Amino acid sequence: MTRPSNPCDVASTTQSLFEMIGNTPLLAITFSHRKSVRTIYAKAEHLNLTGSIKDRMALHILLRAYRAGRLRPGDTIMEATSGNTGIAFAAIGKAMGHAVVIYMPDWMSLERVKLIESYGAKVIPVSREAGGFLGSIRMTQHQADCRKDVYLPQQFANYSNCEAHALTTGPEILEQLRLQGLKPAAFVAGVGTGGTIMGISQSLRRHFPHIKTFPVEPAESPTLSTGHKVGTHRIQGISDEFIPQILKLESLDEILSVSDGDSILMAQKLASSLGLGVGISSGCNFLAAVMAQDRLPQDSVVVTIFCDDNKKYLSTDLFRKELIRDTYLSSDIELLDFRVIGRLGAVQVHNRFIA
Ligand code: PMP
Repeated sequence: MTRPSNPCDVASTTQSLFEMIGNTPLLAITFSHRKSVRTIYAKAEHLNLTGSIKDRMALHILLRAYRAGRLRPGDTIMEATSGNTGIAFAAIGKAMGHAVVIYMPDWMSLERVKLIESYGAKVIPVSREAGGFLGSIRMTQHQADCRKDVYLPQQFANYSNCEAHALTTGPEILEQLRLQGLKPAAFVAGVGTGGTIMGISQSLRRHFPHIKTFPVEPAESPTLSTGHKVGTHRIQGISDEFIPQILKLESLDEILSVSDGDSILMAQKLASSLGLGVGISSGCNFLAAVMAQDRLPQDSVVVTIFCDDNKKYLSTDLFRKELIRDTYLSSDIELLDFRVIGRLGAVQVHNRFIA
């Protein structure tokens, strides 16, 4: 892959990136829970180019911006992010020939900072005193106001974020289930920007209008339920400090709440029992999917997301012994097996990214 010098080259680079982003396997995970054997379906987004679901929206947003003339060769991409988005824009932005600057709260894991820097991007850490997440967003906006060569993807306000999932992740799930003769009853996802839950729900609802869609938040920091930042939590990537503009809670169903300790234990179990090395929000999503299934008729098909892999959590509690509490759901779950519903053929994914 060569560094593009004009939008035409960018098109060919993105074509190459399509091969490494999206079209992930869907995992059918079998487990026993209170004496019954059940299955949850999880999209293996940790297998994307940089190891997270955010590659899809980074590629789609940049492509849309090129098409609209808002991103030009030579522009610097600047984004406020808690990590995976920064890694995705750093890698994909670099592949497309751009300088990338990431503003990030200074309490995110060290691995995330190092990974972003390894792609040649610059990281600006923002302390709580300097405004944390909201401060990071303000700082990128200030840069764009001062300079003409800055492009702001603005993942929290950019509907192309949702569109990436409405055009790719959602249709892939539908096709993978269809090939197995299955119909989704519910979709469950932790909310960061809300792009995943909004985009996938939109796509699934088009074919299954009665599908339940459950947004998820950490029990320790219920921003969605309260409308503002409360407490702190350890599920990096979800529940930032505000309700994002692209999230329309009124179009979704019940907000599910999962404890961060339970999420850590579940993610540890997915790795140690099944060999699925996923991050804390994946553990959270799995537990929330089990809770959603409890609310539905027996054997309902519930789909969720494994958002990222476990490697960028090496310095966090994911790699420490976590205290088990009586109230935790993960203690009642024994993971038995998983089956892969594989990647789709070229014809089945022909509509990807740009409709
Ligand atoms: N989990 C992780 C690890 C993430 O990085 C993100 C993205 N912030 C999410 C979940 C939530 O995804 P979304 O931003 O699409 O709501």
